[in-house]
Amino acid sequence: MDKRFDVIIIGSGAGGGTLVRQLAPSGKNILILERGDWLKREVQNWDATAVFVQNRYVSPDTWYDRDGIPFQPQVHYFVGGATKMFGAALYRLRQRDFGELRHYDGISPAWPIAYDELEPYYTRAEQMYHVHGLRGHDPTEPPASGPYPCEPVSNEPRIQRLFDDLTAAGYHPFPAPCAVMMDEQNMAYSTCIRCQTCDGFPCLVHAKSDAEIVAVRPALEFPNVTLLRNAKAVKLETNTEGTAVTEVVAEVGGERETFRGDIVVVSCGAANTAKLLLMSANDKHPNGLANGSDQVGRNYMFHNSQAVLAISHEPNPTIFQKTLSLNDFYFGMDGFEYPMGNIQMIGKSLGPMYRGEQPLATALLPTGLLGDLAHHAVDFWLSTEDLPDPENRVTVDRSGNLTLSYTPNNQVPKQKLYDKLKSMLHHLGMHPEHLIPRNIYMKTDIPIAGCAHQAGTCRFGADVKTSVLDPNCKAHELDNLYVVDTSFFVSIGAVNPSLTAIANAIRVGDHLLQRLG
Ligand SMILES: Cc1cc2nc3c(=O)[nH]c(=O)nc-3n(C[C@H](O)[C@H](O)[C@H](O)COP(=O)(O)OP(=O)(O)OC[C@H]3O[C@@H](n4cnc5c(N)ncnc54)[C@H](O)[C@@H]3O)c2cc1C
Ligand code: SF4
Repeated sequence: MDKRFDVIIIGSGAGGGTLVRQLAPSGKNILILERGDWLKREVQNWDATAVFVQNRYVSPDTWYDRDGIPFQPQVHYFVGGATKMFGAALYRLRQRDFGELRHYDGISPAWPIAYDELEPYYTRAEQMYHVHGLRGHDPTEPPASGPYPCEPVSNEPRIQRLFDDLTAAGYHPFPAPCAVMMDEQNMAYSTCIRCQTCDGFPCLVHAKSDAEIVAVRPALEFPNVTLLRNAKAVKLETNTEGTAVTEVVAEVGGERETFRGDIVVVSCGAANTAKLLLMSANDKHPNGLANGSDQVGRNYMFHNSQAVLAISHEPNPTIFQKTLSLNDFYFGMDGFEYPMGNIQMIGKSLGPMYRGEQPLATALLPTGLLGDLAHHAVDFWLSTEDLPDPENRVTVDRSGNLTLSYTPNNQVPKQKLYDKLKSMLHHLGMHPEHLIPRNIYMKTDIPIAGCAHQAGTCRFGADVKTSVLDPNCKAHELDNLYVVDTSFFVSIGAVNPSLTAIANAIRVGDHLLQRLG
C-alpha cells in the first residue's frame, strides 16, 4: 500500500465518518484508520440480554476515575463508532446555546461561531442522515432554512395519548427528530421495520442512519478512499519544528505501521482524541500535541442524564417509543429562571434489560415482575447541561492509562427537571410515586462510565490561550492537524450531541475542500 495520503482521518464515527463522506468526491487520496472492525451482523444485535446485560458491543477498555478506581467505559469501537449503538435522535442545539448562557451553577460559555453559521450545515446533516421531524412545534426550535427531509415518525397509540395529554395540560410536545430509514407510507418496502430494539442496539437490517451506513460505506464507493480496520493510532509524529504532523503511527493487526498525510484529522471520540494528543508529546510539544494552552483533555462534559420509567396501570405495548420530545423547560420555568433541559422518550424498556440494573433488578427479580414492569413502563430520558470545568478532564500516564476525573455540576436544575416530570405525571395517567430511576446505558455503579455523550477536551475558539482548535477546528499550533469529533464542543447544551458533530464535520469538510484546492 502507498502509505502517503492527502488526508488521513483517524476514527470513523459521527465526526470522522461524516467527514470522509464529505471529502470522498474530491478525488483526493484519503485513508481512514479505524481501531474497530465492522460491527458483525448477527442475531445478538437485537437480543436485549446480549446487548444490555452481557455488554456484547461495549469495548473492553479499562479507564480509571480520579481515585484510581478502574471501570469499563461505555465506548464502542466499530466502523461507525458510537453511532452504531445510538438512539438516532438527531437534535440541533438551540440558538442561545451558541451564546453565553447563565446556568444555576455558572456560565455556559459562548462558541466562536454563531448558530447562523452552522445552520446550513445542520440542514445538510439532516439530509445526509435522513432525519424525520416536523418544524414549528418545539417552542425552543432554532430557525431552519428548510423542512426536515422526512415526515415525522408517527406516535404509537400510548405515546400519542401522552402527546395529547401533554398538549391538553398546556405543554408543547413535538415529534422527536429521528434518523431511521423508515417509510411509513410503504412499510412493505421500508428498510426500517420499526422494531423494539433500536435505541442502544445495533441495527441488524442496516436501517439506522448511523455513520457506517450513511457515510463510510458510501464514501468507500469512491476509489480514492481506503478504510483500514483494526488500525489503532497510537502516536502522531511532527516535523522537527513541531509545526506539522508528518506521520501517524498505528498498530495494525498487532504490527506497528506508519502513514504519512498532508492533512491529519483526529476523530477518536472526545476522551480518546485527548489521549492520542497527550500521548504524542515531543520536544516541541512537551505537554502533548497542540497543548500549549494546557487545555487538551480539559472541560470534559457528558450531560447530566437521567433515565426514568413511569409505571402506569395501563399497559404500554409501544414498539418504537422514541417519537416524542418536550423542551418546555429547556431554558427554565416559572419560579426557576435557569436552564433545566430536555425531556424525551427513550427506547422501550424490555424485561431482560433490568437484569443488569441495580437495585431495580434485585427488588424485582425474585417476584418475576421484570417483564411485567416493562410492559407497564413509559420510559423517559432527561438531559440537563453539565458545565465545562477545566478540572473535569482526561489525563494519561506514561503507559497510556486513561484517567477521567469528573466532579458533577449543575445538579439543581437536573433535580428540578426530574421533580417537574414527576409532578406532571398526575395529569398523564401515571403515578408520581412510580417514577423509577434507571441506569440504562450506565450499567455500572460508576456514573462516569456512561460516557455515551462525551464531549469537550479540545474546545475550539479564537484565543490560543483558552482553546486547542481554531474556529475551523484546526489545531492552533499545527498547520495540518484537525479534530472533528465532539471534542471541539465549547458547551454541550441539553440535547443529544451527534447532529452538531455531524454538521460541524460537513463544515470542516467544506473548509478542507477549499484548502486542498
Ligand atoms: C447507546 C448510545 C445511544 C446514543 N444515542 C444518541 C442519540 O440518540 N442521539 C445522539 O445525538 N447521540 C447519541 N449518542 C451519542 C453519539 O453516538 C455520539 O455523540 C457520537 O457518536 C460521537 O461522535 P464522535 O465522532 O465524537 O465519536 P464516535 O462516534 O465514538 O467515533 C469515534 C471513533 O474513533 C475510533 N477510535 C477511537 N480511538 C481510535 C484510535 N486510537 N485509532 C483509530 N480509531 C480510533 C472508534 O472506534 C470510533 O469508531 C448515543 C451513544 C450511545 C453509546
Ligand atoms: S427500528 Fe428500524 S432502524 Fe431501528 S433497529 Fe429497528 S429496523 Fe433498525
